[in-house]
Amino acid sequence: MTPADVFRDLWSVVRNELRTMTKMDAPVSYNTRGGAAPEDEAAYVPEAMCIWLYRDEPLPDPDSEPEMSQPEKDACLLAHEYGHYLSDKKGRPEAYLSANDSLIADRPMTPQDMALVLHEERLAWSYARSELAKLGVTEWAYFNEKETDGLNAYERAASATSVGVEECQT
Ligand SMILES: [Zn+2]
Repeated sequence: MTPADVFRDLWSVVRNELRTMTKMDAPVSYNTRGGAAPEDEAAYVPEAMCIWLYRDEPLPDPDSEPEMSQPEKDACLLAHEYGHYLSDKKGRPEAYLSANDSLIADRPMTPQDMALVLHEERLAWSYARSELAKLGVTEWAYFNEKETDGLNAYERAASATSVGVEECQT
């Protein structure tokens, strides 16, 4: 099973699942980054229950079918965002949603906020791993690297916006 096979199968699993939850014909698609942070490579959009893989223009044509220039990377990104969807479906705590809003808006975060955001990120990677395993993935080196990079980026972002310990105690 090649990374391209995995990516194609995953795209189809995710699209079928999201189609049952939304009225969208193409709930998985390539999109430009727009206002997202430069380090963001993909997003799960909870309001619409859709997933975007970010690309620079020109976007793949069609933008709603898997494009095979970087299947290993895209499979990891899509699996991770799908992990956020699965977590959302189970019901993410209100406290997480508000912590995530703070992170996105660069508002100060408490250590509790940071812990909630990192917990959700780890959960999404863990769902991602089981989805990929279900599709027959047995080689994890690249996935592990993406997971580590992803979690490190969140840790950096979260600590950059965190309020000092003393501030929290007052
Ligand atoms: Zn994430």
